[in-house]
Amino acid sequence: AKDGGRATYHFFTPELNRRASDRMWTENNLRRALANNELELFFQPQFAVGSRRLVGAEALVRWRQPDGSLIMPGQFIPVAEDTGLILPLGDWVLGEACRRASELLKHQDLLIAVNLSAVQMRRPGLADRVAGWLSAYNVPPEALELEVTESVLMDDSDVVAETFAQLREMGVPLAIDDFGTGYSSLSYLKRFRVDKLKIDRSFVCELKSDDPDSGAIAEAIIGMARSLRMQTLAEGVETEEQFTCLANLGCEQIQGYLLGRPMPYDDFVTFLKNQALV
Ligand code: C2E
Ligand code: CA
Ligand code: CA
Ligand code: CA
Repeated sequence: AKDGGRATYHFFTPELNRRASDRMWTENNLRRALANNELELFFQPQFAVGSRRLVGAEALVRWRQPDGSLIMPGQFIPVAEDTGLILPLGDWVLGEACRRASELLKHQDLLIAVNLSAVQMRRPGLADRVAGWLSAYNVPPEALELEVTESVLMDDSDVVAETFAQLREMGVPLAIDDFGTGYSSLSYLKRFRVDKLKIDRSFVCELKSDDPDSGAIAEAIIGMARSLRMQTLAEGVETEEQFTCLANLGCEQIQGYLLGRPMPYDDFVTFLKNQALV
């Protein structure tokens, strides 16, 4: 029994230690990264299925290391949320997205989508911060789309409801991210009017042209969105087959590696200019 206990001890501890020290490293360095401008927004194009034209881009944060390598958001956003650093980080993302949007809008009419954390939505004053950044960079509210997950809208807090109402009043488009993965109850869709449902990648990657059942969930989401007068965007589209299935189901917009990966701002500007020439 003693040996067994020791074996267990040896098996778990290095892993737990590594995770704890990763978190500590992230926490200690993220604060400095924010101050030193080491964060960067990448942009992933979004296309209208009908016209095949670029209609927008999702801003996705990256942490640039001194050697040029990147740390992906999955590794630091959860730590930022636990430590409260998501508040200054999220505010930086909003400001930077508006700054880039004002430049991009000189090239083409488009929409920049920004991810909001639940922590940001639960803090009073978010709508004022958004309004401040929009006016600082002279960006029309219709050009900044805010993405929230279903869990935020299941939240019963008055702050969330008030922020939501203020953003709607301002004319900022709202989208539900990862739609279909969060909750079985859809009652919040009546309480919170949103403009767009982003169909989660998990429902897109199972699409097969020779299997009508594979599109059952995507089809249901698209039908529901239509009757609630919401737009649909499918995430994580990687193949022509998935694109065709979604087009046949009536999905309006597409985002995924098939049409463009998230890329640095300068590359996105080049991408934008090239597609405008086609
Ligand atoms: P998300 O909002 O669901 O973003 C989509 C993720 O899927 C991105 O990962 C994107 O690079 C990836 N993706 C796009 N197309 C494809 C595809 O065709 N196939 C596959 N396999 N993946 C695809 P990324 O950039 O690593 O971001 C991960 C998550 O981190 C995001 O998921 C979002 O929840 C969070 N995140 C990113 N930027 C921010 C931010 O500025 N603020 C907050 N609060 N969260 C952010
Ligand atoms: Ca998103
Ligand atoms: Ca998503
Ligand atoms: Ca997600």
